[in-house]
Amino acid sequence: MAEKDVIIGLEVHVQLNKLNSKLFCGCSTGYHDSPPNTHTCPVCLGLPGTLPVVNRRAVEYAIRVALALNCAIQGETLFYRKNYYYPDLPKAFQITQYDFPLGLGGAILIRGEDGEEKRIRITRVHMEEDPGRLVHAGTIDRAKYSMVDYNRCGMALLEVVTEPDLRSPKEARAFLDKLRNILEYLDVFDGNLEGAMRIDSNISLVGGERAEIKNISSHKGVEKALAYEITRQRSARRRGVAQVQETRHYDELRGITVTIRTKEEAHDYRYFPEPDLVPMRIADWVPRVEAELPELPDAKRERFVVDYDIADDHAKSLTSEIRVANFYELVAKRASPRLAAVWIADVLKGELNYRDATIDRFSPGHMVEILDMIEKGKITEKGAVEVIRTILDHGGDPAGVVEAKGLARAEDDAVMEAVRAAVEECAQAVADYRSGNEKAINFIVGMVMKRTRGRADPGEANRLVKEALDGAGGA
Ligand code: ADP
Ligand code: MG
Ligand code: ZN
Repeated sequence: MAEKDVIIGLEVHVQLNKLNSKLFCGCSTGYHDSPPNTHTCPVCLGLPGTLPVVNRRAVEYAIRVALALNCAIQGETLFYRKNYYYPDLPKAFQITQYDFPLGLGGAILIRGEDGEEKRIRITRVHMEEDPGRLVHAGTIDRAKYSMVDYNRCGMALLEVVTEPDLRSPKEARAFLDKLRNILEYLDVFDGNLEGAMRIDSNISLVGGERAEIKNISSHKGVEKALAYEITRQRSARRRGVAQVQETRHYDELRGITVTIRTKEEAHDYRYFPEPDLVPMRIADWVPRVEAELPELPDAKRERFVVDYDIADDHAKSLTSEIRVANFYELVAKRASPRLAAVWIADVLKGELNYRDATIDRFSPGHMVEILDMIEKGKITEKGAVEVIRTILDHGGDPAGVVEAKGLARAEDDAVMEAVRAAVEECAQAVADYRSGNEKAINFIVGMVMKRTRGRADPGEANRLVKEALDGAGGA
């Protein structure tokens, strides 16, 4: 439900993890399966005398994202030092952007709580370097010591800041899903990697101060933390306790937020322009990056509706992940596009979801074969679902599964034979049906399904039984 008294704005940290190297040094970004502190160099460790060099491709990726989020790209952009001391930040400052961010004033569309399209404004998109990662020995509040891994230190990050346009935890989640979707379309981001997206959620009740819940990685986690926070702030308000502006931590295990500190101000950080980097004039880069932008989710969705003549809901579901969209297009070229939309959006996606699997687990060729068998009446819909499940759970190919599990739809003659036999066998049900109990037919249809071992189409069986009874009865 959209909640009138709730105001939410997000600050999303996106790792540009498809780059080859970090933002200011040549260290490789492929550290995810490596031991700690193996992807470091004097630059990202912040040793004295080292100098940063901007990764050109990272800036291009950042422009790509900012354009896709409909931001205005600034002609000139500048890095700053944000000073603070923390063990994950060996230089004791973070190179980030401040009052000349790369992109300003964008927006993306989500489906709002009322089912209507809703525009969420983006305040800014800026570049910065990722700090390292602290690994606590136990939970953050009880750990006796923490360890630090600098592999992540210096990774290129984008911070995407929204205006406070979101009205419920569900809308926040829809925003994050859409953002991830766009980033994956742009091929700058892999959301499955650890730490790929980290979210700070700001939330207040109308007229009250806001709390900022720091650093949650999962979209579901954000939704839950916000739901908890709404309840907490409302109940504090009822008790007459004023909310102060503060930073909170979400304790995932306990499902609660706890206060960490009251709000710091920008001037606490002593921002000043990074003297080791010159301002970048990026205006000239924009036309080329823009020309190379791929088709984005909203445009693809509209094209699917037109090109394939499918329902908007199906188009939305099929374009909500680039890999699913590509899968669909492969299949739609070789099968009925409408049938493919139903079976991929409504059935296959559900089965994958249930197994926590992605579309890579299924082959487009197999989908084409299954659709062909459905269209030709070789298997029933129930049979087709069974084929998909079997392949997902045990592998194999459609023809082989149909053969092995005896899923081939019974030939018409065999169904007719089963109908005749069932009518003969179920004298009582036939009599009941003829004396006006329409439901009695279900029993007879059940018998047909049993005789054909489920390989008849239930609708078809129903029609045939009716025909047999009504025809014979009238004679
Ligand atoms: P900072 O975190 O540096 O103080 P801002 O004040 O610009 O930066 O706000 C950061 C985030 O807080 C933005 O995502 C913004 O949408 C959100 N925000 C601003 N005002 C509110 C509010 N009253 N309730 C909830 N979120 C808010
Ligand atoms: Mg903030
Ligand atoms: Zn390095």
